[in-house]
Amino acid sequence: MSVEIASFRDEDEPCLVLVSLACPACLSSDVDWRLLDTADDPSVRCECRWCGNTRIVYLTHGQALRLALQAPWPLDLTPRAPALL
Ligand SMILES: [Zn+2]
Repeated sequence: MSVEIASFRDEDEPCLVLVSLACPACLSSDVDWRLLDTADDPSVRCECRWCGNTRIVYLTHGQALRLALQAPWPLDLTPRAPALL
C-alpha cells in the first residue's frame, strides 16, 4: 500500500483543496472526507462516492488545520476570493 501525501497549500482555494482529494481511481471529486484524529501524524480518510475507493491521505499540520477550519463549509469547485470565505 503506497503512502499518499496531500498536495494542496494551506492558503489554496477550496476548489484546489477538493481537487487534491479527488479519487485517483475514477478522478471523481465527489469524495467524502473525514479528518482522522491523530495529532502526531495528521491524515484524512477519503471515500469516493462514485466508485467506493477508500484511502488515507497524509497531511502537514497546516493542511490538517486548513481542513479542520474548512469543515463547516462544503468544498466545491467554484473558485472564490479568499476574502469571501
Ligand atoms: Zn472513485
